[in-house]
Amino acid sequence: MAIRNVRKLGDETLETVCRPVKKMTDHISELIDDMLDTMYDANGVGLAAPQVGVLRRIVVIDVTGEDPHVLINPEIIETQGEQKCYEGCLSVPGKMGMVTRPAYVKVKALDRDMNEYELEGEELLARAICHEVDHLDGIMYTTKVEGDLEDMTPPSDDEDDEE
Ligand code: ZN
Repeated sequence: MAIRNVRKLGDETLETVCRPVKKMTDHISELIDDMLDTMYDANGVGLAAPQVGVLRRIVVIDVTGEDPHVLINPEIIETQGEQKCYEGCLSVPGKMGMVTRPAYVKVKALDRDMNEYELEGEELLARAICHEVDHLDGIMYTTKVEGDLEDMTPPSDDEDDEE
């Protein structure tokens, strides 16, 4: 397990469509462990493989700090409603912007044992799922920001909302 270097906006891996995972390997299992470590180390609520330079469809999300989700080859199968909120990204440090996302999301994915499961999320979890799945298609939230990208306010309780 190790902390990996998080790629920053402008790095072309962040604008590349990632390939699906066909089978679990030691290499991918280690990548997932490292992604979780890297996310927690950076106080993020989600991280996608391309953010650590790996062009595979793998996402880790934990919006509470004690409920990690590993999503391999995730596919959003249902959305409802709308929410508008400030969003951040570990690849765009110190910045945030207003983005509209669905209020509810249902996603289908494979877990670490390559078994299919579904995850439902509202509020921050729904937002994190959309944000991270976008990463796998090379889409940065900065392309969806309404208005200007803003400087993050000095440290506050909202600091944990970086994805
Ligand atoms: Zn991000």
